[in-house]
Amino acid sequence: MNVLAIGAHPDDLEILCGGTLAKYAKKGHKVFMAHLCNGNMGGKNITPEELARIRDREAKKSAKLIGAEALGPIAGDLDLYPTKEMRIALIDIIRYAKPDVIITHSVNDYMPDHTITGQLVFDAAFTATLPLYKTKYPAWEKITPIYYMDTMAGFGFEPTHFVDITEFFEIKKQMLLCHESQYKWLSGHHQSDPVKMIERISGFRGFQCGVEYAEAFAMAKLWGRITLENLLP
Ligand SMILES: [Zn+2]
Repeated sequence: MNVLAIGAHPDDLEILCGGTLAKYAKKGHKVFMAHLCNGNMGGKNITPEELARIRDREAKKSAKLIGAEALGPIAGDLDLYPTKEMRIALIDIIRYAKPDVIITHSVNDYMPDHTITGQLVFDAAFTATLPLYKTKYPAWEKITPIYYMDTMAGFGFEPTHFVDITEFFEIKKQMLLCHESQYKWLSGHHQSDPVKMIERISGFRGFQCGVEYAEAFAMAKLWGRITLENLLP
């Protein structure tokens, strides 16, 4: 299978579905890790251009740990809007990756880049299937099932599926630790230690389904995208 995970910023996928992506990769699936925003606002005392370069390197390093291919970005932070231009850029990410399953942000997450990513993926995933809608790559005609990943801290998220990531928690942590530039920033600006955060969230989702660590997902209930098969690993 081809697995396409689409997050807003470099590090979102690691936090919300990194263990699941590592598990897919271990099972031999081809994993694409896309982030739509370049991360250029997640810092202080550095230019946005320099920060974007650092974050691009960090994202590629993390993807490499599980043999995934990093894709994106298509916009700066807080510069992502549900426009035609952005939709086309995302359609080409989908058409390039030819996904059998798509994972993305829930549309009720905590900040606009996340909610707009969820919305754009929904819009682009439909449009990407249409052969007459011309973009750089040919149409990917498969109506691909979409799973929404947990919200940050789990607010307002009702899971339909859980993935046991107990064996993959360490690699999830290693992937997250590739995003070195984010630690100082998150500890100062959001008063949160990212490693503690994933221990708590994955620990809580694990508690809910009876394992040590888990990640939670909600299948998009949409005509044509429902499958009887569980596409999560
Ligand atoms: Zn984010």
